Amino acid sequence: MDYLWTPWRYAYVTTAEKTPRPGIPSALEAFPGDLGCVFCNLIASIDYAIEHNMAAEQAEGAGGLVLRARYNFICLNAFPYTSGHLMIVPYAHLDRLAALPADAAHEMTDLAQRTERVLDRLYAPHGFNFGMNVGQAAGAGVAGHIHLHAMPRWVGDTSFMTTIAESRTLPETLEITWKRLREAFAEISA
Ligand SMILES: [Zn+2]
Repeated sequence: MDYLWTPWRYAYVTTAEKTPRPGIPSALEAFPGDLGCVFCNLIASIDYAIEHNMAAEQAEGAGGLVLRARYNFICLNAFPYTSGHLMIVPYAHLDRLAALPADAAHEMTDLAQRTERVLDRLYAPHGFNFGMNVGQAAGAGVAGHIHLHAMPRWVGDTSFMTTIAESRTLPETLEITWKRLREAFAEISA
């Protein structure tokens, strides 16, 4: 029953790295490069769009970018397990948690605490998953770049659909989730 502990792994394993330039949303495909990494491509394509006169709100919305902090950013999981499924990701392309400098690691924990408060307010869940898969063998869908998953959980939310089809029916769209989270993170600053 390991999906109870790593419910995020399936969608990413099956979908994350199969696109030609992983991590670049279609609205941001003007970005000419390919850094070969979902998260590095995501941030670079958002920044490129803003530098080329796309409104920041539009570019960040297209990329599901919820918050930029100093060493880490928070983005939506494009293949969420539940509504409110976020990832806290260091800007640095690192494949081991132990390689993350102390300042960035501390900020990641601060952001996880803030995320818990935000998810609690928005979704009033029964519990939370916070988790990181380090390395392909551990189930990391994007093994080259560490990321901390965060999601709200409810008693009984491991639905039959998940078990048989590795997919879920979510109660809100990514666009709505993004908007609600942006506003909540702006209000809950620490
Ligand atoms: Zn990367």
